[in-house]
Amino acid sequence: MKPASFKYACPTSVQEAVGLLQHFGDDAKVLAGGQSLVPMMNGRLAQPDVLIDINQIAELRVLEVNGGLRIGAGVRQRTALESPDVQRVVPVIAEALRHVGHVGIRARGTVGGSIAHADPAAELPTIMLALDATMTVTGAGGQRTVPAEEFFRGVFTTAVEYDELLTGVHVAVPGPASRSAFVEVSRRRGDFALVGAAVSLELIDGAARRVRIALSGVADRPVLAHRAQEFLEGRDPHDPVVREEAGRLAAADLDPASDIHAPGSYRKKVSAVLVKRALSNAVNGE
Ligand SMILES: Cc1cc2nc3c(=O)[nH]c(=O)nc-3n(C[C@H](O)[C@H](O)[C@H](O)COP(=O)(O)OP(=O)(O)OC[C@H]3O[C@@H](n4cnc5c(N)ncnc54)[C@H](O)[C@@H]3O)c2cc1C
Repeated sequence: MKPASFKYACPTSVQEAVGLLQHFGDDAKVLAGGQSLVPMMNGRLAQPDVLIDINQIAELRVLEVNGGLRIGAGVRQRTALESPDVQRVVPVIAEALRHVGHVGIRARGTVGGSIAHADPAAELPTIMLALDATMTVTGAGGQRTVPAEEFFRGVFTTAVEYDELLTGVHVAVPGPASRSAFVEVSRRRGDFALVGAAVSLELIDGAARRVRIALSGVADRPVLAHRAQEFLEGRDPHDPVVREEAGRLAAADLDPASDIHAPGSYRKKVSAVLVKRALSNAVNGE
């Protein structure tokens, strides 16, 4: 199928893009890498009157380590994956990005596009939640920052208003005691995950601190496994019995929906296994 006809604007600054969003209101849609939006337009699931193409906005393509890792919304997923800064400072982001679609998808798809699209099974929202990342959102009134926990509101729904642009994401530089891992299960390589698990913690004198465990594919947005996090605080995650219990607790509170890809009961079972695996990878360096 082909998309319905639309008008096209190609701003060269964030300010200009925000002005256009304000002018056209919710008749407009931002076009980033187009890897989710264009298929939706082709299937007539999205029929925006105006596309605001943000690909010519250079300031959105900045990736830098400056008081933390800052990734501009327009940075391609492939650029982020291959970035020496990402691999050195927060390598778990690259670990998660390897699971996003295929190389062709990542060559066009943007970091901001994936986060703004907010697919509940997507890797980037999940890893950003585990890393306690902060999103920068820009509108006519200026910039505001939103922690990942408040950013994802539901299926394809975020804290970005129709007249705002997600302009970037900020991740604190992890200290030497930090450990993290990302794992997922999908039916075929490159498919969206059935379930994904991201873990971030500090290991101090053999005990886990500041534990965050995020799961994808099990609710309408990525979710934190609060009970498992609390259980792990102060415990030794090298101990398989501790990891087993953390996995059990993480899955216990979930009630995933069934769909054509997998029953909810399977997703729940897999969540426990993935939390255990992610913890093991994080602390044993697998
Ligand atoms: C075959 C295939 C397989 C895929 N597999 C995976 C996968 O395994 N995991 C995964 O996570 N993704 C997967 N994707 C999706 C891919 O990662 C997309 O790149 C991503 O979801 C959207 O990024 P984009 O830059 O292409 O955004 P677009 O498609 O251009 O936009 C997506 C949505 O976000 C909005 N948007 C984009 N940027 C901004 C912004 N800066 N501010 C506000 N709103 C914005 C758009 O208006 C639109 O509603 C797959 C896609 C395909 C086609």
